[in-house]
Amino acid sequence: MVEQVYPNIYKNEIPLPKNPLKALNSYIITGGPRAVIIDTGFNCPEAEEAFFGGLAELNVDPKAADVIITHLHADHSGLAYKLEQQGARIWMSAGDGKAVMRMRDDRGWEKTRNRMTLFGLEFEEDLIRKHPGRAYAPEGPFPYSVLQEGDIVDAGDYQLEVISVPGHTPDMINLYEPKHRLYFSGDHVLDPITPNIAFWGFEHPAILNRYLESLRKIYDLPIDLMLTAHRALLTDPQRRIDELLAHHLHRLEEVEGILSDYDQPATVTDVARKMTWRIRHRDWEDFPVSQKTFAVGEAMSHLDYLVFRDRVAMEEKDGVLYFARNEKNSTEPIRIG
Ligand SMILES: [Zn+2]
Repeated sequence: MVEQVYPNIYKNEIPLPKNPLKALNSYIITGGPRAVIIDTGFNCPEAEEAFFGGLAELNVDPKAADVIITHLHADHSGLAYKLEQQGARIWMSAGDGKAVMRMRDDRGWEKTRNRMTLFGLEFEEDLIRKHPGRAYAPEGPFPYSVLQEGDIVDAGDYQLEVISVPGHTPDMINLYEPKHRLYFSGDHVLDPITPNIAFWGFEHPAILNRYLESLRKIYDLPIDLMLTAHRALLTDPQRRIDELLAHHLHRLEEVEGILSDYDQPATVTDVARKMTWRIRHRDWEDFPVSQKTFAVGEAMSHLDYLVFRDRVAMEEKDGVLYFARNEKNSTEPIRIG
């Protein structure tokens, strides 16, 4: 069921079964030369039904639609292959687009698996097959066009400007409409959910720093309505950006504190198990494996930031990373930015 949130702009709430995010906000903009759709939902029957049901309600034909995928995650990109098959034109950033093409490729997941070993996490073989990032991904590669910073998407009354905001994924894009002061934030800014900042490999160094820079990049944009990809739409994005900046500062302090409590260098898993997590499990041993992989990714992005700031030292021993506080550099309070 679609809901109009602004003239000619509709929110199509797509259920995300068995996922703590609950639903994705897909947006449909009508009134332009072609309909513009932002994000799709998982590639699963429940999401497909809601997504295409919404298009039918508004008489939007995929053949006359441009579909913009803000970032690679399957809850955003999942139905892109099916849409392309039905004649829609798909748009993604260069970096995340390339990653979407590999989401069903086992070699990429093998890399993810190896990274977990590097983090000191014991890992079950079948997790990769069950991982929603793979199970709900598009069927395979498909043709798409590339969007980059500064490109303008013509949506009739709305001229959407592409803004590059790396962080939540290495090449996430957002859309800004300066005339009406609208901003489509994907997963860059969410409320009350905190966007997950994972580690994407050493080829994407200091990704948390890039995320914090991307938050500051949009801070002063005049925005009256932020159309997020999950949960609440925001009329006061600066309030939420301030909270997210404070959250990561607090996290960094927590991670440094945890390292101080260990007498010897600690693994990413050692750190993750002592961090505070807002999930309903008594302790680390009770976490489902998928939550553990999520938690170590988050721990690693913060450790990686502290290494980047030279406050923490990192070394690899027998294929596992170890971290220790760099005492001489970490007496000052942490500053982000
Ligand atoms: Zn995401």
